[in-house]
Amino acid sequence: MKWQWRSGGNNKELKNIIVTDWEPLGATAAFSSRTGGVSAGVYKSLNLALHVGDDKENVINNRGKFLTALGGDLRQGICCMQVHGHIVKAVNEKDCGKGVREYESAVPECDALITGAPDVFLMTFYTDCFPIYLFDPEKKVIGLAHSGWKGTLAEIGKETVKKMQEIFDSSPDDIRVFIGPGIQACCFEIQEDLREKVAAKFGDKEQFASSNGKRAIVWDLPATISYSLRQAGVKESNIVNCGLCSSCQEETFFSHRRDKGFTGRMGAAITLRR
Ligand SMILES: [Zn+2]
Repeated sequence: MKWQWRSGGNNKELKNIIVTDWEPLGATAAFSSRTGGVSAGVYKSLNLALHVGDDKENVINNRGKFLTALGGDLRQGICCMQVHGHIVKAVNEKDCGKGVREYESAVPECDALITGAPDVFLMTFYTDCFPIYLFDPEKKVIGLAHSGWKGTLAEIGKETVKKMQEIFDSSPDDIRVFIGPGIQACCFEIQEDLREKVAAKFGDKEQFASSNGKRAIVWDLPATISYSLRQAGVKESNIVNCGLCSSCQEETFFSHRRDKGFTGRMGAAITLRR
């Protein structure tokens, strides 16, 4: 078993995907669903993003519920601004609290965070983009990267591996990766101009962005992310793809595409245990 759904203690409505494989190795990695929170309307109910128009106190309350279910609290969180780029930043315990209670204090201009500090929770937020969780159990280093189509084209996952090598001397051979839920090829329709960009960047275009028979062109983002990570030296056997689709599973996930832009966000979090 590589991952499983787990409820949040006494909050049975709250359920997170947990990467169970990593728990005995010292890391907790989780992805939330939309249930078990206090937000209303299109944000019902566990919206974890501050910048989407939801009531701020409700979002902070929801974030507290999410981290509590993982054995943490709000003071341990670190969030980044998520600008659909390829910049990775290293953080430590001094950065705790950034972006947790207000978007403005988040680590600026980056989409991925890495740390070797235990007991801090790296956090990023999602509708259809993919969270890439990274864990080096040898050097005790974790990373979390936000990879939508722009970040995938910019190879944010590969950049995160490179930064782990550079700052913490991680060997790509040791790095484990979990690609969480997001919009899968069943739903991620794109136009020809974007397919050209995918082909220009990654070569063989049929491998990633192809016709699915009934619709024009679809892009398999996790396949592309996985390919890029392997180019960075991560072993195929160390990459796990969750496979769940945010757009298909309306009861479980918010989806920007499906909900026409008016929706909440799920959260990804990863922490190293002491
Ligand atoms: Zn789908």
